[in-house]
Amino acid sequence: MITEEMHHRQQQLRDTFLAENAKLNLSAFRTPEACWTGNILDSLAALEVEPFRSLNLNPSPNPNPSPNPNPNPNPNPNLRFLDLGTGGGFPLLPLALELPHHTFVGMDATQKKISAVDRMVTALGITNVSLVCGRSEELARDSVHREQYDIVLCRAIAELNVLLELAAPFVKVGGIILCWKSLKIEQELRDSLLARSELSCQMEQTFEYDLGGTWGKRQILVFKKRAKTSNKYPREAGIPKKNPLK
Ligand code: SAH
Repeated sequence: MITEEMHHRQQQLRDTFLAENAKLNLSAFRTPEACWTGNILDSLAALEVEPFRSLNLNPSPNPNPSPNPNPNPNPNPNLRFLDLGTGGGFPLLPLALELPHHTFVGMDATQKKISAVDRMVTALGITNVSLVCGRSEELARDSVHREQYDIVLCRAIAELNVLLELAAPFVKVGGIILCWKSLKIEQELRDSLLARSELSCQMEQTFEYDLGGTWGKRQILVFKKRAKTSNKYPREAGIPKKNPLK
């Protein structure tokens, strides 16, 4: 599905990230191989999840144009994505490169990480990404961000009950939250029942994938937000983690 040109762009991303990581300690994946599999391929696994499969990824010119071209070739124009807790730019940057017709925001509480991702975005000439530094509990109260996103991405942020409270306020009603997780999360799923009902987030599907070798299997959970988020949520910065909905 990924063209040769996009593969080359992902390799440029890997190399730019590794140069930043050597200075700043953004991630434990320090070798080209570890970064490729653990950051880039792991981020791109989302492209196989159902809502992404129907997006107009990176359309290549049709060699046999039909006499009656589809008047609406892109069924989902300009979806808005938020990567909550983007850290060193994952899954934000690999997905932004693959989905150039959609808009991405990367959010993180740590300025040095946001600055590093900003330098990477500039170095790679990526134009569909903007960045915001701050605590998500505070930014979720800002009308610029509250219920403004079609898809919220969360990788390695917190347990489900915490991350649903952080993520749900940003999602439009009918939008989705994607959570990257390991396979053994039965307890975490049980502990998230109250958060799911309080935040009207319904688990729609789980997508299992295999990164191969010693990386093994992982999954992406997809939650759909069914109703507006109560103004009670998120609670004050730090409270969702300190006192999770349970
Ligand atoms: N998503 C990245 C980084 C994971 S580390 C990856 O998978 O590689 C978790 C990141 O989330 C950290 O950079 C931390 O600063 C950020 N974070 C955690 N809680 C946050 C919050 N409430 N608001 C904003 N950023 C948060």
